[in-house]
Amino acid sequence: MTESAASTSAGAAGSAPATVSDVRQRNRRQALRSIILSGQTSRAALAQESGLSIASVTNLATELIAEGLVIEAGSVASRGGRPVTLLAPNPAGAYLLGADVGERGVAVELFDLSMTRVDREFRGGREGESLDTIIQDLHEALDALRIRNPDAWKNLTGIGLGLPGIVEWSEDGHQVLYAQSLGWPAIAVTELVSHDIPIFAENGAKTLTMAELWDGAARGVDEALVVLLGRGVGLGIVSDGQLAHGLMSSAGEWGHLKIVRNGRTCRCGGRGCVEAYLGADAILDSWREAGGSFEGSGWRAIGDLFDAEKAGDPIAVAVVEELVNTLGSALGGLVNLTNPQRVVIGGWVGLRLMESVAGRVEAAIRAEALRRPGGQFELVACRFGGDTVALGAAMMPLGALMNEPRGNRST
Ligand SMILES: [Zn+2]
Repeated sequence: MTESAASTSAGAAGSAPATVSDVRQRNRRQALRSIILSGQTSRAALAQESGLSIASVTNLATELIAEGLVIEAGSVASRGGRPVTLLAPNPAGAYLLGADVGERGVAVELFDLSMTRVDREFRGGREGESLDTIIQDLHEALDALRIRNPDAWKNLTGIGLGLPGIVEWSEDGHQVLYAQSLGWPAIAVTELVSHDIPIFAENGAKTLTMAELWDGAARGVDEALVVLLGRGVGLGIVSDGQLAHGLMSSAGEWGHLKIVRNGRTCRCGGRGCVEAYLGADAILDSWREAGGSFEGSGWRAIGDLFDAEKAGDPIAVAVVEELVNTLGSALGGLVNLTNPQRVVIGGWVGLRLMESVAGRVEAAIRAEALRRPGGQFELVACRFGGDTVALGAAMMPLGALMNEPRGNRST
C-alpha cells in the first residue's frame, strides 16, 4: 500500500502545509511498516527505502525500541566487515484483533505485531442468524480468545471489525453500521462489542482491500479493484494508492449496482442488483432452477458446481457460462470507470471461481470493457484466501499503533 489502508485517518491530503508532527507521524508509520513487512531489516536499508537520513532512522528506531514495538534481532556482517544490527518487529510488543462479521457468524483472529496469526475463533454457522445472535457470537469468540491468551489480552491495541454493510462516521464521532441487505437496524459499532477494547470498523470488502494493499495482491498498486464475491458481493476501489470512501463511505457498494433493469429481486429491496446474480445464494438458485441438484449452500455446493462443470454436466456448464459472462459484464463496466492496473478477486466464491475459470473470467471482462482499458489490467486472485477480511480488519488497530506513540493515545 502507499499510505492507504492502515492510515486513512491520518496524513490525509489537504491544503494546509504538513506540520513537523505530520512529518514525524509519516516517518514513524513508514519505518514501522517497513520493519513489520520485512521481518528484519537494517537501519541503512530502512534509510535507503524511505529516503530518510540515517540519523532520522536511528532516532525513529530508538523510539520504537523504547516503546517495545521493535527489537534488535542479531547482526550480520556488512560489506566493510563491521557487523550491522538488524531491526525486527517485537511479536509480543502489541496484539491486534481482526473480526470478519458476516451474516452467518463471526471469525475473530488474534495477531501479534509481526502480523502472524496466533489464534482464531469462529462462532455461528446457523441459518438465519439475527443481529442479536451475531453480537452473542462475537462476545463468545472474544471470551474464548481472552481466556486462551491472557498475556496478549493485556497488550491489545484494539479490535478491527469487517462488517457486512456501510460503515459511516456520525456527526457526533461514532461509527454506525447500515446493513440494509440483512434487514438489520442501524447500529453503533460500539454496541457490537461488549468487551472493553478500542474498536475500529469498516465494511468487509474494504478491510479485504486493506489486507491486499498491505502485503497481498494489491501491494504497491496505485489503481486497483479488489472484488469480494461471497454470500454478499462487495468491492474496494483503490485510486492513487488510497482506498476510496466517497462522501460518507458507500464508495465501492458495487453489490447493489443495477445490472438488469427490473431484474431479479435483491435482498436490499431493489431489483436487478449485481448481488442478485453473483452472490452465492443467487448462483446456487440459478443452478437449482436450471435443474441442478446439490447439498448445502456454502463452499462445498459452489465447489460442486465447478466440479460438475468441469465434468461436462450440461446444466452446470450453462450456469457457469452465464455466471462468467455476467461477472465479465459487471466488471467490464467498472474497468471502464476506474481504469485499474490490477483486478483482484477474493471472497470464498471468488476464490473458487479463480481456481476453476480465471482465464475465462479475464477474457469476459476484457470483452465487455472498452478495448483500451480492457487491455490495461491484469487479473489475479486475492492472496490471503478465506481469512482476508479479518486480517484486513486487524490493519485498523495496527494503523493506530503506527500513527502515534502508545503513550499519546487517549484510549
Ligand atoms: Zn441490492
